[in-house]
Amino acid sequence: MGVIIDKELCIGCEQCVDACPFDAVEMKREVPEVSDACTLCGSCADVCPEGAITVPEVERAQDDRAAEAKGVWVYAEVRAGQMPEVVAELLGQGRRLAEQLDVELGAVVLGHGLDGAAGELFAMGADVVYAADDPRLADFNDDIYCQVLARLIAEYKPEVLLAGATSIGRSMIPRVATAAATGLTADCTGLAIDPEKRLLLQTRPAFGGNIMATIVCPSARPQMATVRPRVMKRGELRQGAQGRLVTVSLSDEEKSLTKVLEVVQSLEENVNLTGADVVITGGRGVGGPEGFQLVGQLAEALGGVVGATRGAVDSEWIGHAHQVGQTGRTVAPKLYVALGVSGAVQHLVGMQGSDTIVAVNKDPNAPIFDVAHYGIVGDLFKVAPAMLSRLKQLRGQG
Ligand SMILES: Cc1cc2nc3c(=O)[nH]c(=O)nc-3n(C[C@H](O)[C@H](O)[C@H](O)COP(=O)(O)OP(=O)(O)OC[C@H]3O[C@@H](n4cnc5c(N)ncnc54)[C@H](O)[C@@H]3O)c2cc1C
Repeated sequence: MGVIIDKELCIGCEQCVDACPFDAVEMKREVPEVSDACTLCGSCADVCPEGAITVPEVERAQDDRAAEAKGVWVYAEVRAGQMPEVVAELLGQGRRLAEQLDVELGAVVLGHGLDGAAGELFAMGADVVYAADDPRLADFNDDIYCQVLARLIAEYKPEVLLAGATSIGRSMIPRVATAAATGLTADCTGLAIDPEKRLLLQTRPAFGGNIMATIVCPSARPQMATVRPRVMKRGELRQGAQGRLVTVSLSDEEKSLTKVLEVVQSLEENVNLTGADVVITGGRGVGGPEGFQLVGQLAEALGGVVGATRGAVDSEWIGHAHQVGQTGRTVAPKLYVALGVSGAVQHLVGMQGSDTIVAVNKDPNAPIFDVAHYGIVGDLFKVAPAMLSRLKQLRGQG
């Protein structure tokens, strides 16, 4: 059933037209008409001064979910027995959000052989840990992981759920959002709280990275967001911190339809870009695959790894595993050196959290200089060798 408009009460003020975030309300013969673009969000009914608009109760029941929901949760993924760094980063951010909302910070961990995981999560900032340790969860499997997490959401009703935009998160979390009948904002680069409405403000690049959009999930709960590794800062480690452990048992019905027979390591080049302290990136300015030898030499001299722009990757000068940016990896090293990189916004979103950015570009107006702490206007084929020889000289001096 759609939105009901009482034509007798309507005064044709058009406030509903302006309020509709989906442009679904249009005035026709001085009366609003609602198109198929309507999501029954209720914004029109909220602004109508005459109470002429009614949104079906079944959908408005979402508001009750918002009123009931409490707590910020982080999904703490476990990969090959280890929790990746993004879990600590999400708990760091989760703590800031939980403090603003004045609620507990929860962590959910699923797997088998999880000894010590709860302690680690308390140390990373969780107040409460929901742990399901069961042989059926030994290997990551979307369907059973999704069933268990969705059940916990239905039972405990968190208002926010954060997860890593990792291969596990990207695979499982959209299914969880669907099962929980809520929204999900993927690859957020900023998360904040609207204290008045208790809404999670989820910021991410949109329209090919040309704008930053802040997205809210006004009524369904939990408000779900994924965040890439190295986007948020991890919190202080609270060694020995204690919290509340909730042991979760699986029901007989919770089982996977598929079975993992074997886990095979990817043969693709494995570049630890996200964890690196030093990243030396080459862009199209390096001129070809041979230009990356110079980039590699500088990376080696500084104990770092080689990054690349999409421009260089698309030109097939280097593999995608090296790509930094919106469709590559997000990095936040101590030192980021950009050689022949123009600084397109899609590149910047993947590296502007770096502590120190050094850019070398022959174009003084290149946008990379807007984010660089140190900018060198010049030919990288002169500047990079000069850097290498200075490094050698300094090392020679001990
Ligand atoms: C949806 C979408 C997603 C994208 N995702 C990504 C992404 O994840 N990562 C990414 O990087 N890009 C991404 N892009 C592409 C992005 O828009 C740019 O096209 C790309 O970053 C440009 O790469 P570049 O800086 O290497 O090349 P260019 O823009 O061609 O810049 C080359 C630079 O090198 C300088 N130069 C040339 N020769 C020299 C020299 N000898 N010495 C010094 N400087 C020199 C030039 O002045 C120039 O500034 C995406 C685009 C879209 C639409």
